[in-house]
Amino acid sequence: MERLQKVIAQSGVASRRKAEELIREGHVHVNGKRVTEMGVKVNGNDIIEVQGVPLYQEDYVYFLLYKPRGVISAVSDDKGRKVVTDFLPGVSERIYPVGRLDYDTSGLLLLTNDGDFANKLTHPKHEVDKTYIAKVKGVPFPQDLKPLAHGVKIEGRKTAPAKYRIISTDNVKQTAIVELVIHEGRNHQVKKMLEAVGYPVTKLKRELYGDLNLHGMKPGQYRALSKREVKALV
Ligand code: URA
Repeated sequence: MERLQKVIAQSGVASRRKAEELIREGHVHVNGKRVTEMGVKVNGNDIIEVQGVPLYQEDYVYFLLYKPRGVISAVSDDKGRKVVTDFLPGVSERIYPVGRLDYDTSGLLLLTNDGDFANKLTHPKHEVDKTYIAKVKGVPFPQDLKPLAHGVKIEGRKTAPAKYRIISTDNVKQTAIVELVIHEGRNHQVKKMLEAVGYPVTKLKRELYGDLNLHGMKPGQYRALSKREVKALV
């Protein structure tokens, strides 16, 4: 059950505030009855009409995509570049990505049409661990990366403490593979954090989102999340 004004807002016909106004002014009917008070709860079986037009309530859907590199985390692009929803052609619901991965970053991306779920997961207070595997330029000593554990300043603001691990180093090529676990989602955060400690990222992949992983998947493949997986995230 959801609050009526929220369901109207999520369907995209009006903002939350406008939906409340429409209810208050008597423009909304539920199962043929005019509703003017706030806080009425509805579910997917209720027929909601706004100014006489039935609201189409889509079922909520949740997907996990192995985003390839060279794809935009958006639903359309005015320059005609590939976008993440191109990889879910059979999905008719109006899904969009939960947060973003950079154009040149690959890895685990969630997509949904559930606005509440997306907002919750991208809210800074919602601390889901995200695990990234970065290839960096240079071979770090463990102590070089220590500031990551306390937080480093990017754009004048300190990041939350992160967990990190040097997975491998290549002294010939002067590169290393570093795992970084963060729960925030600031713009280009992993690249900026590793740059801040002197090891610029040359390749980046998101390996885990909470407990979700990409096992058995190839770039460009997707699967639906189970109800249990959705519940575990929010
Ligand atoms: N951090 C980045 O720098 N890029 C991403 O795509 C995700 C996290």
